[in-house]
Amino acid sequence: MSDLLRVGFVAEGPTDFVALNAAVSALLGEVDYTPTLISPLVDKSLAAQTGGGWAKVYLWCRQMLADAGGDARKSDIFTKHEILVIQVDADVADKKYTDDQRITNPPHDLPLNMPCDKPCKTPCPRPREITDALRTIVLGWLNEAAMPPKTLVSIPSRSIETWVLVALFPDDPTAVRPNIECRRDCEVRLKTHGLIKSGQKLIKEYRANEGAMATAWGHVRERCGEAERFSQEFLALVPPPTNRA
Ligand SMILES: [Zn+2]
Repeated sequence: MSDLLRVGFVAEGPTDFVALNAAVSALLGEVDYTPTLISPLVDKSLAAQTGGGWAKVYLWCRQMLADAGGDARKSDIFTKHEILVIQVDADVADKKYTDDQRITNPPHDLPLNMPCDKPCKTPCPRPREITDALRTIVLGWLNEAAMPPKTLVSIPSRSIETWVLVALFPDDPTAVRPNIECRRDCEVRLKTHGLIKSGQKLIKEYRANEGAMATAWGHVRERCGEAERFSQEFLALVPPPTNRA
């Protein structure tokens, strides 16, 4: 186990972590690695111990920056992990910091007000424009203008449920529509398929489908530009085996 690769995740929630880790396991193939959900805190069954959501990702970034004395690059996170994946969904573009009472003294960069044309152009440029803008915002949470080493910001569009739907239900009537990364109904479709019930994303169902998501990752990359971007950026961060301590 001397060259074990440690991948840390700061995700909106436990089910987001499961989907991201499915992608990572597909990308790494036979490479041995240890995935850790850094935030939100979970128990052994991956049930959340603290509130999650995009605002928790924001708060984690601010805390990490404070803990590192104002320079995120000096955080001990980077001595404990070879790769850090930070995820928020593209629908954060529509949120306000004031929606979450845990947030004090927020920046003034949300909401983005970047709606699609109606109807969308095909292909629609908006998902990439929005995720580019959100990446800059997330880096701002870390007081960074450029991506720190070992770090990847993943922004599934409009949410990671798009990736889950495309992976597990490729023939679903929504999953086959053009501009899948603009669609707002992927989460609704997952309710139909039993992964979300009464507004709760069912961690047991997501975990039961993690292997199937990994198997279908190639298809997700073909359908979702942000999944392809995540894949390329992740693989670029994987150190060669000899460099792993
Ligand atoms: Zn669009």
